[in-house]
Amino acid sequence: MSSPQFPNGFHANPKALNTDKKWVLAVVGGDILVPVSAGDGHSLLIEHDMADQLKFFCERRLLLGQWQGTDCQVWELSPEAKAATDFKLVELRSLLASSGDEEFTMACRAVQLLDWQHRHQFCGTCGSAMESASSEHSMRCDPCNVSNYPRISPCVIVVVTRGDHCLLARQPNWPEGRFSTLAGFIEAGESAEQALHREVLEEVGVEITNIRYVGSQSWPYPGQLMLGFIADAVTDEIVVDGVEISEANWCRYDDLPFYVPPPSIMSGRLIKQFVDEATAKAAAKSL
Ligand SMILES: [Zn+2]
Repeated sequence: MSSPQFPNGFHANPKALNTDKKWVLAVVGGDILVPVSAGDGHSLLIEHDMADQLKFFCERRLLLGQWQGTDCQVWELSPEAKAATDFKLVELRSLLASSGDEEFTMACRAVQLLDWQHRHQFCGTCGSAMESASSEHSMRCDPCNVSNYPRISPCVIVVVTRGDHCLLARQPNWPEGRFSTLAGFIEAGESAEQALHREVLEEVGVEITNIRYVGSQSWPYPGQLMLGFIADAVTDEIVVDGVEISEANWCRYDDLPFYVPPPSIMSGRLIKQFVDEATAKAAAKSL
């Protein structure tokens, strides 16, 4: 059966297409077991025939969706699977650097679905055991006639700019010299814009305006969705809250702190966008 091609190669479809070929994504304790033969940039997926040797360790399996039109399952394996020859364990976080966006998305989904199922074994209302629905990703309580779906927690993340400077901050538990953008969870009932105004004001005492959306990224620690923005500062005096943020500075685009996040994660992408824009403006001015 053919399926439409999705732009990122992965379709997070909760329904199986029952394709002849199948892929397996193997998870051990929140990390990904990949074939040793897969080099950097190769797929995390294991062909179904090859995955046979891991079957013995498989404790749960769920449909993830389709990778380039082919059904793809996640298998949760017991820790003993780490010793399987021909496979190696790769930290989920490290995949950000070594695999493409679409593969990271798929791995995030795998780990999040397993985690969500773990945490929803019993109904929060009546305490009955929940059942996994066969046709979709939901956990069902029959007595209450209620279905629970995987929960996503949206967060806002923002680079605040003031001309050719941007505001970067350090959390108290971070090593000296490590800085990033501001971020926080959206509170119940808030819009993303309201959350941005509140977070920036609470953490560094700065008012913002002209909020522009940049993009989003799934972030499985656990179930977060990072919504990335750029905003302009209205005020420039920084007053750190001393709890979530211990230090914050206005940094010129060509004189950033030594440790800033890489563009593979949303905070780094926002900083890069600011630097690119500020560099282009400076170049235009000098003409
Ligand atoms: Zn119930």
